[in-house]
Amino acid sequence: MNQQALILIKPDGLKKSLTGNILTRLSETKLEIVAAKMVRVSRELAAEHYMHMKEKPFFEELIKYIQGELHDRRKVMAMVYWGEDAITKIRQLSGSTNPEEADPTTIRGSYGRITTKGLYENVLHTSSNEAEAEREIKLWFQPDEIIVNLYPTKTVTIEKAKKILWV
Ligand code: ADP
Repeated sequence: MNQQALILIKPDGLKKSLTGNILTRLSETKLEIVAAKMVRVSRELAAEHYMHMKEKPFFEELIKYIQGELHDRRKVMAMVYWGEDAITKIRQLSGSTNPEEADPTTIRGSYGRITTKGLYENVLHTSSNEAEAEREIKLWFQPDEIIVNLYPTKTVTIEKAKKILWV
């Protein structure tokens, strides 16, 4: 069954120059990249993305982490991968959330660490199930940024909307 998943290369992954390594590892899945962009993460976007972690003691640190404030890299690379069993294949390749427990051959096992403050820095985010994938993809991407139709869309006319164009 075809599925889609959101992948974020987190600020620690970018700071450690791991983008190429992570993309190479992900290419083992033979899945297709159907959307990709660099994103400066607002507090609102970060809090919405991690809404299920709101009650955790490390929530504020997690928000700072995904916003890049812990790594002096205020950006993440966001992508949508699409294809047969995408979510399972990517989760297996990424490894466990706790990088010290992750299989050492996985991406998180190879490159992740636990900070002295106890936060899991695990270099990438991957959607955990289909419902989360839908919520996350719709949060991070607009329909016209994705080259395949993943979810139903509607067309609306927006008048007097400002748009930045090249001069
Ligand atoms: P995943 O990213 O594997 O889907 P979660 O959604 O449970 O895992 O957690 C979101 C992020 O919060 C993790 O990727 C990690 O950066 C951080 N995190 C999760 N659990 C812990 C924990 N027990 N201690 C510290 N940081 C954690």
